[in-house]
Amino acid sequence: MVSHGKWGDRPLSEEQIEYAKVDVFSLFMLYEKFNPDNEDMRRLVISSDLYVDLKRSIPVRDYSEYEDNAYLPINIIPDKGITVLPTGSTACTTCSRLFPRDEFSKIELNKRTQKCRTCKKVKLDINVQANREDNWARAAEKYDRCAVNYDYDDPY
Ligand SMILES: [Zn+2]
Repeated sequence: MVSHGKWGDRPLSEEQIEYAKVDVFSLFMLYEKFNPDNEDMRRLVISSDLYVDLKRSIPVRDYSEYEDNAYLPINIIPDKGITVLPTGSTACTTCSRLFPRDEFSKIELNKRTQKCRTCKKVKLDINVQANREDNWARAAEKYDRCAVNYDYDDPY
């Protein structure tokens, strides 16, 4: 198993290189399946550059769910016919990306807690996971109490 913290080390280990090869291999299969035309390729290059810049611009990596999730960040893939994505001057308080002000609600802006849609989705996932873990802990507690009661109250 390759841990997240080792990806910043150089040179990469043979194990890391093999792991990365497997990850990248599926991208070639997707490319052949979708067979992008020149317009799509231009959009893919723009998207790829934006994505790489986004990851490289993280000042200090913390590998949190906000940084390391499976969601494609919003405003990464330009619509057909568009080569420049709209930028803004209002930062998401979680990922620090700049968005047009109307990306956020007035309430969030007033509280200075504005999160972009990607960060909101990650936050929701974190809350759902925490809720699941709470429910499991409560169920386990209940089960333990029942088991204890069963042990002590059962005359047979
Ligand atoms: Zn964000």
